[in-house]
Amino acid sequence: MAGLLVVMAHPDDECMGAGGLILRHSRAGVEVNLICATRGEKGWVGKPSGARREDLSRIRTAELEAAASALAINGYLLWDYPDGGVEGSDQAEITKRIGEHISTIAPAAVVGWGPDGAYGHPDHIAMGRCTDAAVAALSDRARPALYHLAVDAPLADSYRAAIALNGGDGGTLPLVVKDHVDLVLDLTPEEVQMKLRAIDCHQSQLETWRVEIRNHPHLMQQVYGREPYITVSSRAPAITTGGLLGEFA
Ligand SMILES: [Zn+2]
Repeated sequence: MAGLLVVMAHPDDECMGAGGLILRHSRAGVEVNLICATRGEKGWVGKPSGARREDLSRIRTAELEAAASALAINGYLLWDYPDGGVEGSDQAEITKRIGEHISTIAPAAVVGWGPDGAYGHPDHIAMGRCTDAAVAALSDRARPALYHLAVDAPLADSYRAAIALNGGDGGTLPLVVKDHVDLVLDLTPEEVQMKLRAIDCHQSQLETWRVEIRNHPHLMQQVYGREPYITVSSRAPAITTGGLLGEFA
């Protein structure tokens, strides 16, 4: 078994959630694949200016393609489940499709959303549940390690400070803070810059604070440079000295 499979709900989850983890592995020569359940046609902050809401699906499809390239992702599947409607879609079908893709590419590790969806987003929660079920349904021999994205207290504090940069209310993002995480990736400033280039591919999703934070390099390092994860199951210690998941030591 080889490689890492990241299973997300929306275009931009892969960058904003796990961009550093993906870069760390793709740059180390580990094959990285991605599943994205929706085209994110509901999420919008009105960018790029002049775009129409009905164009959003097409815009975000192109944004994901660019971001996948910026992250050096080997391959990705972009599905057509409705944005905001993953929970109401056929859960057994989603689980089966994830399981089939795992069987096809045989990743050593899968990274998905946990039961909190980081901030309670129903699509994240549903996609995470299907991913967990797909991994659990595999035979012992075929089952990859499983990790969840998580938010710890320092990261939550940094997000609140970042959202407050433009007078936003940091309390409006209901982050679910974990008391315990198993590993924290601390990205180098160079890695943060690479992650930022990938995030920038998602122009339609750049809230004001994500633009303003460039003027606050210290805070940007804290927000984008810290990625906590929870080990659900692993055959190896959670993290290696090189900052790779244990499976890739
Ligand atoms: Zn999302």
